[in-house]
Amino acid sequence: MTISGLNRETSLQRLRDRPEPWDVLVIGGGATGIAVALDAATRGLSVALAEQSDFGKGTSSRSTKLVHGGVRYLRQGNLTLVRDALRERTRLRQNAPHVVHDMQFLVPCHNWWERFFYGVGMKVYDLLATGNSFGRSRGVSLDETLRIVPTLRRGVSRGGVIYHDGQFDDTRLLFDMALTAASQGACLTNYLAVTALHHNTDGRLNGVDAIDQETSQSYRIHAKCIVNAAGPFCDAVRHLDDPSCARLVAASQGVHLVLPRKFFPGETALMVPKTSDGRLIFIIPWHDHVLVGTTDTPIDRATLEPQATAAEIDFLLTTAAIYLQESPTRGDILSVFTGIRPLVKGDPSARTASLSRDHVIRISESGLVTITGGKWTTVRKMAEDCMDQVIAKTHFAAPKSQTANLRLQTRVESPDTLESLHKSCRLTQPDIQYAVQFEMARCVEDMLARRSRMLFLNARAAIEVAPKVAHLIAQQLGRDNHWIDSQVSGFTALAQRYLPS
Ligand SMILES: Cc1cc2nc3c(=O)[nH]c(=O)nc-3n(C[C@H](O)[C@H](O)[C@H](O)COP(=O)(O)OP(=O)(O)OC[C@H]3O[C@@H](n4cnc5c(N)ncnc54)[C@H](O)[C@@H]3O)c2cc1C
Repeated sequence: MTISGLNRETSLQRLRDRPEPWDVLVIGGGATGIAVALDAATRGLSVALAEQSDFGKGTSSRSTKLVHGGVRYLRQGNLTLVRDALRERTRLRQNAPHVVHDMQFLVPCHNWWERFFYGVGMKVYDLLATGNSFGRSRGVSLDETLRIVPTLRRGVSRGGVIYHDGQFDDTRLLFDMALTAASQGACLTNYLAVTALHHNTDGRLNGVDAIDQETSQSYRIHAKCIVNAAGPFCDAVRHLDDPSCARLVAASQGVHLVLPRKFFPGETALMVPKTSDGRLIFIIPWHDHVLVGTTDTPIDRATLEPQATAAEIDFLLTTAAIYLQESPTRGDILSVFTGIRPLVKGDPSARTASLSRDHVIRISESGLVTITGGKWTTVRKMAEDCMDQVIAKTHFAAPKSQTANLRLQTRVESPDTLESLHKSCRLTQPDIQYAVQFEMARCVEDMLARRSRMLFLNARAAIEVAPKVAHLIAQQLGRDNHWIDSQVSGFTALAQRYLPS
């Protein structure tokens, strides 16, 4: 079946009309859920996916935008994990060359010992990337360091090491995966929250209740297999299956600051391997802005709009100031965005089907398949592992995974000649029409946070452009002035949270 683009009405109609159970129902429309839907659909299985908010609203729009093997894992000596991620890095670049590109990183070194230490570490990275290299690492003199990163604070480094990884735009990749999954017959719906799980008389899961967040209409969706890809919220879904189950994940948040490009005008990113609290921090050019991140702060409860603390913002500003010639202040921050890591806890009582130390797949007594952990770079492999397990359990007649060399679809970009709706970011009227018509954008936030990245790049500019965007969406969806007003005020309140107080 070929469906052009994502259309919410069509998806809801398919959910209503389908008499037989779906082979697979996926809960959660982040990177993991969409990757599972894509893997399942390309194996010829019928698959539906329900996302309680917008696609990518959770962690998947809030990453550091790196396609990487994981220098952190290298430091931990987890070489298999790094090698596997480097292989996936190459696949992503091959399958989505329009989204993923090579990026050069500088590791500034304070002394000769550090240059030797990080130089050797990056040679190991090169070795693990054999056949999947984005470029070889090399040591650089102080002169070259300052030429590559002209705004590096003088005196902070005595040369450095260059290495290569990839950069991408997380939500653009997400929508391209979703468009490809839809073209293979997957039925994807946003603003559809799963509120209950149903079991047959043998205690096996056989369906869910889901509520349309726009109309409050209730849907009963039957499925032979249910995959819980709810990211940091996966324990809430597991509790719907078994209220007595132990928690699988602990949440920790990571904050990013976005600054004007003047602070860091070059094309080479900076990787600070050890901050004052022992973390690894990146300073990266991103969409003509600069991204600084990230922190790692344990939190009690996952929410869809996690908030950076004052201490996290100060820590990132202070760390950036050590390395940048001009020290950024709170007033320079254009946007602050925060993502939540689902850190997998050990649970010795569970029947574990852990396929790597980076992601975890658990299958409950009733058959709920929970997949969590991992990273954006490796979601394709995570989804393959997950569906391999599902197929082995359910005995679906399905071929092996088809996604390793699957070229992803993408939208047709609007021409550069069109006038932008705001001087600070490129966003045109056809961009909005396209996103509403083919990518299920339902409101101003969908458009400014995920179909374009304005909220993440410049929250004040996003507030300024919101009325125009609300009008254009209203025209397409047939909404009235009251809707426009509430969209503008709701979005303005949200965007204020992306600015430091
Ligand atoms: C700060 C930070 C930086 C990172 N940077 C990188 C990076 O540079 N490179 C990299 O490779 N990886 C990175 N990662 C990791 C990567 O972002 C995550 O692994 C990935 O986004 C997780 O995706 P997910 O789909 O599992 O979770 P999510 O994106 O959170 O998706 C889960 C979805 O489930 C939905 N949901 C929850 N409950 C329900 C329900 N009842 N019904 C329906 N839907 C529901 C939620 O609304 C949500 O959209 C980073 C992570 C963090 C936190």
